[in-house]
Amino acid sequence: EKSCASRLESIRERARDLAQNVFGPRAASIDKAEIYPWENCFALRDAGFMGMTIPKAYGGQGLGYREAVVLVEEVSKACGVTGRIAVEANMGAVGAIMAYGSEKQKKIAAELVLEGDKPAICITEPESGSAATDMTTRADKVGDGYILNGKKHWITGGGVSRLHLIFAQVFENDEPQGIAGFIVVRGEPGAEGLSIGKREPTMGLRGIPETEVYLRDLHVPADMLLQPPSGIRKGFGDLMTAYNGQRVGAAAVALGLAVGAYDQAEAFIQQREQFGRPICEFQGLQWMLADMAVQISAARALINEAVNGTGFPDKMKAAQAKLFTSEMAVKVTNDALQMHGAAGYSRNNPVERMVRDARMFTIGGGTAQVLRNVIASDLLGRKFPQTREGYMAYPASKSP
Ligand code: FAD
Repeated sequence: EKSCASRLESIRERARDLAQNVFGPRAASIDKAEIYPWENCFALRDAGFMGMTIPKAYGGQGLGYREAVVLVEEVSKACGVTGRIAVEANMGAVGAIMAYGSEKQKKIAAELVLEGDKPAICITEPESGSAATDMTTRADKVGDGYILNGKKHWITGGGVSRLHLIFAQVFENDEPQGIAGFIVVRGEPGAEGLSIGKREPTMGLRGIPETEVYLRDLHVPADMLLQPPSGIRKGFGDLMTAYNGQRVGAAAVALGLAVGAYDQAEAFIQQREQFGRPICEFQGLQWMLADMAVQISAARALINEAVNGTGFPDKMKAAQAKLFTSEMAVKVTNDALQMHGAAGYSRNNPVERMVRDARMFTIGGGTAQVLRNVIASDLLGRKFPQTREGYMAYPASKSP
């Protein structure tokens, strides 16, 4: 326990140092230019922060999500974009591949991430967002491989990421087999069928692109199918279990943004004077600050609870952490802006960026509404099918 605490402290210190001295000063220009911060990726890599959750046997440090969330919070206090890169370089796709992948798959993923590549997860499609299992991208088994066709949307890292974990409905002889994940390295010979479409002009987190990804007769060899223990038919559930890591990572970015905005607000109200006195003497602002601090502590506790064990975070705990932290971050960053008055509304002030950056976390990776569904279903011990047909067939079913 003691060595774990000191390891976490050392990661926190090193991450804070990098964030305050390197990422923070660059954050405004990254936001303005809307250009992917490769220099920050390489700084993360050189500090051993890319792929630190990868097992030692594959060149990583074998650290867990407990360490990863500390890194992500510290980085996100200064730069949300770089925080998200730290998430995807340690959780999400790389976590899924390290848990379920073959030797070959793990080697490919580890090599790319340790070099500084932030993997992309391709689930969402134009017509299937929350209803992820309605995806229409298909993978047809042909000879010793699969042919993928479809269109993904809102893919973080589109056009910058090399490693892709692509989800598709698998068919053999036109028979549906379930949803599986396929590992594809953009730019490799044979992967010409993967191409990048339009970039979405986003509200916040502008240094990282979200794009369409087209799959046109993309050939994927059979050994690049990511096969979870329960096989293809039920494998989507396992892959989503891995996604709980990414969810907690998203919560940690939102937490960092909230703390970053809180720090700015606290310093500002101590120094700004109106009516001949520092504005922190006004109880209206004191109580806002107190509420912000309590909300931040509560969010951090939920995140820590979710990463307390080994392996992937529990679904319920991950959902709670992401739901609470994302809504908290929207509120806390907004309150921090409010406490600055006009100064907070200026694009010269980092708080303005933090408000925009925080906004996405109640949407991406499971919306706040969908996470409430997950939590309620767990509390009640029932499945609540969201399609009309499902509800007619299994109304609020307690059966699996
Ligand atoms: P919809 O599903 O169309 O939802 C619209 C509204 O309806 C929402 O308020 C939603 O909560 C509500 N709603 C829908 N169904 C229900 C229900 N059953 N009960 C109650 N309310 C409901 N996807 C990827 O695959 N890879 C990525 O890298 C990725 N990155 C992203 C980055 C950003 C910045 C954003 C914004 C999104 C990203 N996404 C990514 C997509 C993201 O996961 C989806 O946006 C999300 O799952 C919601 O889908 P949707 O946007 O289509 O909204």
